[in-house]
Amino acid sequence: MFNLLFSSDPRQALRMFRHIVGMAFVIVFTLGAIFFFYKNLISVDRDTFESTIIFFWGGLFLFTITFRSGFNRHFQDPSLTVAQMLWITLYLLTITYFLNEWRSLALMGFFGVLTFGYFKLRFREFLSVALFAILGYSLIIIYLFIYEPERIDIRYELLQLLAFSGTITVMLYTGSTIHRLRDKTKKQYIALQEALERNRKLATTDELTGLYNRRHFMDKLAQQKALSERNDSDFVVCFCDLDHFKQVNDTFGHHTGDVVLQKFSDILRSSIREVDYAARFGGEEFVCLLVDTELKNAKKVTERIRSSLANYNFSDIAPSLNSTVSIGISNFKQFKTIQETLMSADNRMYQAKTLGRNRVVASDEEQDE
Ligand code: GH3
Ligand code: MG
Ligand code: MG
Repeated sequence: MFNLLFSSDPRQALRMFRHIVGMAFVIVFTLGAIFFFYKNLISVDRDTFESTIIFFWGGLFLFTITFRSGFNRHFQDPSLTVAQMLWITLYLLTITYFLNEWRSLALMGFFGVLTFGYFKLRFREFLSVALFAILGYSLIIIYLFIYEPERIDIRYELLQLLAFSGTITVMLYTGSTIHRLRDKTKKQYIALQEALERNRKLATTDELTGLYNRRHFMDKLAQQKALSERNDSDFVVCFCDLDHFKQVNDTFGHHTGDVVLQKFSDILRSSIREVDYAARFGGEEFVCLLVDTELKNAKKVTERIRSSLANYNFSDIAPSLNSTVSIGISNFKQFKTIQETLMSADNRMYQAKTLGRNRVVASDEEQDE
């Protein structure tokens, strides 16, 4: 029964729930109307009364089907709050017209309907439903006054209508205040979320290059270590240091140096897979974590990174500018701890420097340390 009525989409389920609450209200109202009918307080015959109830309930079930089939999503407001409220109001108005006495009870019903949309509707929507109820009720009174004056006491009805309109005006005022507050809170919430997101980004990324920062990279390394130990996989750490970068700064200026750092970051990003991580370790030093990778493949990747930078044409920035990188790589399985793996990669990078720079040295290669 539950699955039959409620969709697995929580928003749709909530809409259906609200609809059912509305129906519960209409059940109470319908029972009241039936009670009045049997007390002979209703001016129409049984057939008309029954078909009216069936007609309006049919409309309500159409709403149920609309929600369950998901067709409601095609409307601007998929909750169909205004449409449901208008339909129920029309039902109340019709029964109000049928009633000989106790017409004011229907006015109480309107309060029920309006409360239904009180927290949800925009000011204008709420106003239109309220005006629909007031206008509808006024028309009934005017009609009765002209055509069936014996059925009403016009002074009493007018007084009632006045009280009803007054109360609705107060509701409108408080409702719009609540709405303003709600809008304000919502805006503040969104601003807070954005600030949090900005902060989160600042805490994990390097501003100049957009790569991860050192701290976040170390977190990722620790996670990867745990993962690799669990599923017995290997990963590779690459340590990259741009060659003679001080000279680049001294010759072309700090700004050009920054552009080279950004370009190298782009090369790193585009050379590794989605699952891998690249970070700026500090200054002109960069690190990569190649997940689930053997040293042999890591060599290919880093060789590609090295040659991409060496062959990169910086002539649009400065005609004689070029840049190279020395890279050291080590795999985790060989060293078992993050510290050792990082240190080894760093050592290999220095070895690449002493061997003449612009090269890759891996931890499975001979070294004389
Ligand atoms: P080596 O080949 O031995 O690595 O020589 P190097 O000149 O690259 O090494 P060194 O450590 O002497 O110099 C690194 C330079 O990187 C010095 C510093 O000014 C520069 N640097 C560090 N961070 C930045 C930055 O954010 N922007 C710029 N433009 N330069 C930076
Ligand atoms: Mg350095
Ligand atoms: Mg350097």
